[in-house]
Amino acid sequence: MLYDVVIIGGGPAGLSAALALGRARKRVLLCDSGPRRNAAAVHMHNFVTRDGETPNEFRRLAREQLSQYPSVVVQDVLVGGVTGVKGAFHVAAGADTVDARRVLLCTGMIDEMLPLDGFRELWGHAIVQCPYCHGWESKDRPWGYLARAEHASHLQMFALQLRGWTNDVCVFTNGDFELPAAAQSQLIAAGLRIETARIGRLVVREHRLEAIELSNGTRVACELLFAHPPQHQVNVVRALGVALDSEGFVQVDPMSRQTSVPGVFAAGDLTTRMQAAIAAAASGMQAAAMINVELMMDPAWSGAR
Ligand SMILES: Cc1cc2nc3c(=O)[nH]c(=O)nc-3n(C[C@H](O)[C@H](O)[C@H](O)COP(=O)(O)OP(=O)(O)OC[C@H]3O[C@@H](n4cnc5c(N)ncnc54)[C@H](O)[C@@H]3O)c2cc1C
Repeated sequence: MLYDVVIIGGGPAGLSAALALGRARKRVLLCDSGPRRNAAAVHMHNFVTRDGETPNEFRRLAREQLSQYPSVVVQDVLVGGVTGVKGAFHVAAGADTVDARRVLLCTGMIDEMLPLDGFRELWGHAIVQCPYCHGWESKDRPWGYLARAEHASHLQMFALQLRGWTNDVCVFTNGDFELPAAAQSQLIAAGLRIETARIGRLVVREHRLEAIELSNGTRVACELLFAHPPQHQVNVVRALGVALDSEGFVQVDPMSRQTSVPGVFAAGDLTTRMQAAIAAAASGMQAAAMINVELMMDPAWSGAR
């Protein structure tokens, strides 16, 4: 079977791209399998019309709507690899290999859990990445931001915005790095607390984060901890050899969303630090439209189906 587009990844980016391409009457295979970024989250916020929806319900609804478009096939299969060239890709999808004119990568990113006892268990409800997603539910409570050395030069941008939700914010450097003097004065002047000692443990009661205990014994009340653990691309993206930027995100042309490999496009979290479901969905739609335009400009196009 020759598909116009094989989309790898069925999160907000891939589902949105499939919708646009289905409505444009393109033959699409959407493959989805493996871990997804918000698997640990109970609710998805800040997606207009879907605020507070569960991630599973979001995906179920999207698939239900896709089922109206006969040229879109959705399969729960893992893509093991992509070979071939633009116009004639071969995609290993589960036990089958299918052909595709174009490939769209919507595989998200993998978050690496930080080596702190309890981090994995709290990830998604008490340890989160984004105040727009989770801030409202914990407003006016004690918050922390676990900064990492990679963020030293710009961490105040993230930390200062947290004061919009609560006046009680503590930045933890976990003994990892020296905070630049300018950042330190800015944070203190703005009323944030800074703790530079190594974190001893996360104090948890009945699955809720209560405090951060430092190695020097100090306990800092903290009910919501922000953290941006390192992330990596999934294997299929790494194996394709698409160019990555200095932070490890897939480089795309901002308009076409074309990667460095001709015929391979990318949308969603794997391309940006601006990681949110609605942003991923928007970039998926954009990639789909640009792929569609490119296909329609191809002299080999054989007409509407
Ligand atoms: C804990 C947490 C909570 C969050 N809460 C919110 C929130 O409330 N609101 C919000 O807007 N954003 C939230 N986000 C961010 C949001 O989840 C992401 O921005 C969004 O899911 C990105 O969509 P995506 O389609 O790019 O990737 P994903 O949603 O990660 O989807 C990628 C999909 O690709 C699949 N895949 C990967 N490799 C393969 C392969 N080889 N073959 C087949 N399939 C593959 C994966 O299984 C996955 O289903 C949260 C993130 C986290 C970590």
